Amino acid sequence: MARILITDPIAEEGVALLKQAGHEVVVQPEWKGNLLKEHIGAYEVLIVRSATRVTADILRAGKHLRIVGRAGVGLDNIDVDTARKLGIQVVNTPGATTIAVAELTVAMILACLRHLCAAHASMQQGRWDKKALKGAELYGKTVGIIGCGRIGQAVAQRLQAFGCRILGYDPVVQEAPGIRLVPLETLLRESQIVTLHVPLTEETRHLLRRDTLSLLPRGAIVVNTARGGVIKEEDLLEFLETGHIACAALDVYEAEPLPPDHPLRRSPKVLLTPHIGAQTREGQVRAAVDLARKIVDLLKS
Ligand code: NAD
Repeated sequence: MARILITDPIAEEGVALLKQAGHEVVVQPEWKGNLLKEHIGAYEVLIVRSATRVTADILRAGKHLRIVGRAGVGLDNIDVDTARKLGIQVVNTPGATTIAVAELTVAMILACLRHLCAAHASMQQGRWDKKALKGAELYGKTVGIIGCGRIGQAVAQRLQAFGCRILGYDPVVQEAPGIRLVPLETLLRESQIVTLHVPLTEETRHLLRRDTLSLLPRGAIVVNTARGGVIKEEDLLEFLETGHIACAALDVYEAEPLPPDHPLRRSPKVLLTPHIGAQTREGQVRAAVDLARKIVDLLKS
């Protein structure tokens, strides 16, 4: 039996699975920072989502820590290098929320094309702006997918049903169904819609900035459900103001939560969501159950 600490809530189904396997599970969402450092010494497993920062300090204080589990994909909140040095295994659930993020991405593309946010706001304000709200079809558009891994390919699969021409750029992937892989510059020059599905790394930080944004055709749509920091927000705002970018739909930001007075919140040409890409009932259950199964197996070995 192991003592398992959960500091970011995960779906009940995952907790139940850990308990059924005979482990003691403690859920303490308030334990972050110093408080977590104080208590971590009593646990063999720590389970988090994205809110808990698992720093080197916390890992070192975890004298009995064997596993850090992340219910979800990104490991940006975990000091993976230090964990490795200390012999602590880090596990995540890479595929669990792929469908959730892919569906949000397609929803965002359609919402931008049909001005859904402006249409809804105008109705709530008592107006009937039918003429001003002429949109565009997704059918026949060229969509550029930057990062053709799990989510990028799931987006491509869905876009095929809409009759899009799909270009992709990925330095690692050699082949992806339904995607024509091209150099980044070609993708940017030819895509009316660009969607990002890369991790945040040294290479991808500010991948979309003034010089790369300027390659896009005028009136392009930019969607980011990957990670903030992949787009330089300051430059994006400039391109939105000039109209070079017609609309940007963003789920992730350079600083999260996005500050209340951030200029992006005032732009009429953006659709903003508060990092909800993975936030579906099904995705969260899948992530919790996948993670619990992995941890139960690891604890057996
Ligand atoms: P993945 O690892 O399957 O795919 C990422 C792809 O990006 C890989 O194929 C990789 O080769 C490619 N890549 C790496 N560097 C690149 C570069 N410089 N240019 C182009 N491609 C590059 O990951 P995934 O599961 O598809 O997730 C993609 C992103 O979505 C991750 O950043 C993840 O954190 C993010 N995500 C966001 C949410 C959310 O809530 N919005 C939820 C889940 C995942």
